[in-house]
Amino acid sequence: MGTVLASRARLSCLEGRRPTIATLCSHSSLQIFHGARTEGFPTLGIATGAPPRFYDAFPLARPDRFVTVPTVKDLPSVDGRLRDEGVILIPHGSFVEYLGATAFGKLDVPVFGNRAVLDWESDRRKSREWLESAGCSMPERYEDASEVDGPVIVKYYGAKGGKGFFLAKNREALADFQPTGPYVIQEYVLGTRYYMHFFYSPISDRGYRAGSGSIELLGMDRRDEANIDELYKLGAQEELLRAGIRPTFVVTGNVPVVLRESLLPRAFELAAGVVERSIELFGGMVGPFCLEGIMTEDLEFKVFEISTRIVAGTNLFISGSPYSDLIEPGLSTGRRIAQEIHRARETGRLDEILS
Ligand code: AMP
Repeated sequence: MGTVLASRARLSCLEGRRPTIATLCSHSSLQIFHGARTEGFPTLGIATGAPPRFYDAFPLARPDRFVTVPTVKDLPSVDGRLRDEGVILIPHGSFVEYLGATAFGKLDVPVFGNRAVLDWESDRRKSREWLESAGCSMPERYEDASEVDGPVIVKYYGAKGGKGFFLAKNREALADFQPTGPYVIQEYVLGTRYYMHFFYSPISDRGYRAGSGSIELLGMDRRDEANIDELYKLGAQEELLRAGIRPTFVVTGNVPVVLRESLLPRAFELAAGVVERSIELFGGMVGPFCLEGIMTEDLEFKVFEISTRIVAGTNLFISGSPYSDLIEPGLSTGRRIAQEIHRARETGRLDEILS
């Protein structure tokens, strides 16, 4: 058995009806709606202002209906309407970001996954405690510049899109850093980046076992980041800094990658550790999560972040990935979420996957 996450009262609006899958019209919504529709669910898009026109270009991913709110922050004012519609909300990165983790946590609508994870994901110190105690190796964190003994990346708290991050080759170069807010100094890990898209089902009884269920690997990507990815074309970073041009890490898109097959066992071990530790710490995360890290030349994976919901890199794999093809052809993460809801309903276990 997985952990019971949702009370009867929270799920009462879903009794005796087929749920409607809803999400905010952004981020990975095309994939979420397409996946829900493929599995036979009605869909509802939450739009700010007016329904976005770009859905007209993608008929297989257009939600059946829309609810509009002036801004994302106004969403709590329509939660009664969403309950009347029998909605299950699918969180994604932009949804939580625009609404705010606290307001999202308080929404009185069934949400896919365990909302208790928000606390652990959004606080860099807590997520480090979780990941390290789960067996992940992470980039070194320096409390003070005097401890630095190699290249570092300085990150501001809550810096969205990696704007204002500072890179320094060594302790001496770090002296040029002029902080404008609270920050952390982290070892700059040299290697290649991988963003691994996993899915944990607490109700599955087959596959790669972890917790009360199993873990699937549905895809893998690398992010395109402006301006760092193309900065080298303009010259050495030190020259550019002198000219006032600083590196930024703003995500603009994604490219598909696969991992050396011999590294997959370690990837699964890490994912299983993170799931099992999450069960001990806060009842367990459910559904999609992404381990984001850097593979070093010694083939060690250093995790710099975890995302505990569908990530935009999964948009590459709406018709399947080199990994999900080996589970079921045409399986996207969006579709897998809908399948999980379907299977939990059939077995009376919705309270273990919704909160
Ligand atoms: P974050 O805000 O932690 O997701 O970091 C944004 C980007 O900075 C990542 O996608 C990486 O390209 C880069 N990055 C973050 N941490 C490190 C690190 N410790 N070493 C090297 N690059 C990093």
